[in-house]
Amino acid sequence: MMLQGQRIRCGVVRLLPLLRRSMTTGAAPLDASKLKITRTKTPSQPKPNDELVFGKTMTDHMLTIEWDRTNGWAVPEIKPYSTLNLDPACCVFHYGFELFEGLKAYRTPDDKITMFRPDMNMKRMNKSAARICLPTFDSQELIALIGKLIQQDKHLVPKGTGYSLYIRPTMIGTTDSLGVSVPDKALLFVIASPVGPYYKTGFKAVRLEATDYATRAWPGGVGDKKLGANYAPCILPQLQAAGRGYQQNLWLFGPEKNITEVGTMNVFFAFQDKKTGKKELVTAPLDGTILEGVTRDSILELAREKLDPSEWEINERYYSINEVAERAAKGELLEAFGSGTAAVVSPIKAIGWQGNDIDVPLLPGEQSGPLTKQLASWIAAIQYGKEQHGNWSQVVADLN
Ligand SMILES: *Cc1c(COP(=O)(O)O)cnc(C)c1O
Repeated sequence: MMLQGQRIRCGVVRLLPLLRRSMTTGAAPLDASKLKITRTKTPSQPKPNDELVFGKTMTDHMLTIEWDRTNGWAVPEIKPYSTLNLDPACCVFHYGFELFEGLKAYRTPDDKITMFRPDMNMKRMNKSAARICLPTFDSQELIALIGKLIQQDKHLVPKGTGYSLYIRPTMIGTTDSLGVSVPDKALLFVIASPVGPYYKTGFKAVRLEATDYATRAWPGGVGDKKLGANYAPCILPQLQAAGRGYQQNLWLFGPEKNITEVGTMNVFFAFQDKKTGKKELVTAPLDGTILEGVTRDSILELAREKLDPSEWEINERYYSINEVAERAAKGELLEAFGSGTAAVVSPIKAIGWQGNDIDVPLLPGEQSGPLTKQLASWIAAIQYGKEQHGNWSQVVADLN
C-alpha cells in the first residue's frame, strides 16, 4: 500500500511542471497519442544493400511536428516524404536556429527493429534546443513517434550486419521575421535513411592532421551541442588538411594543445606505461568543449565493465598532442580511434604534427589495433541484438 501511494505521488510531482506550464500558457505538450498518419500511395522497394550511400536515399515517410509559443506542440504528423515550404525570412536561414541528432535502428536476428540508446539522443536534443531558445519536449513522446515512423517504413530497414536505418531528428526556428530574437515558431521533423557499413570492406585506418590553426569548440561556447552552426566552419580546415594528405582534423585546444575530438567524432587513445606495464584508455573530459557522444559513453561503460582492471585504467582526462608525440617516441602509444554513431569506431594510423607523422601501431596486416577491434565487436553484438545490455536496445517494431 505504502509503495503504491509513493508511486502515485511521484507521478504527480513529475507531471506538475507540465501541468503548470499548460495551465498558465495554454501551450500543449508534445503528445504522441494525437499522431495523424497519411500513408504514401507509392511505397518504394528496398534498394539492394550494395547501392546504399550514406544519407542519400530517404525512406518513404517523414515525421513533422509544428510548435508555436501560444499553442505549444501541434498534432504530430507522419506523411509522405516531401520538401518543406518555408518563408525565406525564417530565422533558421539567417541566424542558424537549427539543431539535429543522429541515431540508428537495427534489425535483430529474431526480426525485431530496435533503436540504440534513443533516450541519450533525446536528452542531448533537448539540451541543444534549450541552448538556442527552441522548445523542449518529453523525450519518451518523441521516441514513441520515431518508433511509429520506423514502423511505417520497416521494409526499408536493411538486413545484414553493418546495415541499419540512420535516423535524423531535426529542429528549426521558423519565425518569419528578420529581427534577431527568441523564435516563437518552430518545426521538429524526423527523416530516415537506410545505410550500409561505414567501412564496406572492413576497417580502413585514417590519417589525421593535428589542427591548431582552426578551433572547433571553446570554453563557454556551444561545441557540446549538436547545432548545425558548429559544422559548416569545420569543412574548410578539413579541405586544407586533405590538401596535405590527411582525411580529418584532430582538433587541438589552447596553449597546451590538448586533444579534443576528431572531425565530427570523439577520440580515444590507448597507452602503455613502459615501466609499470599498465595500459590506459584515455578520452577528453566533458568540459563543455566536447560533444557528449553516445558511442563515447557506451565505449567508456563497456571498457570499465569488460576490460581487466589489473591491466587497464580507463580515464577521462586532459592529454595533449605533445604527450602523444613523446609517448609514441618511447613506444608507449598503443592505439587511437574515433567514435561516433555513423562508423561506431574509426581506427587512426597516423597523425601529422609539426611537419612529421606520428605513427599509430596497427595489428600486423590489419587496419586497426586489438582494442579498437574488440570494442567494435562488443558494441555490434549489442546493436544487432546478439547480446543484451540493460535497456540500450529498445524495440520499436516486431516484423513477425
Ligand atoms: C555527433 C558527434 C559525435 C558523436 O556522437 P555519437 O552520439 O556517438 O554519434 C562526436 N563529436 C561530434 C562533434 C559530433 O557532432
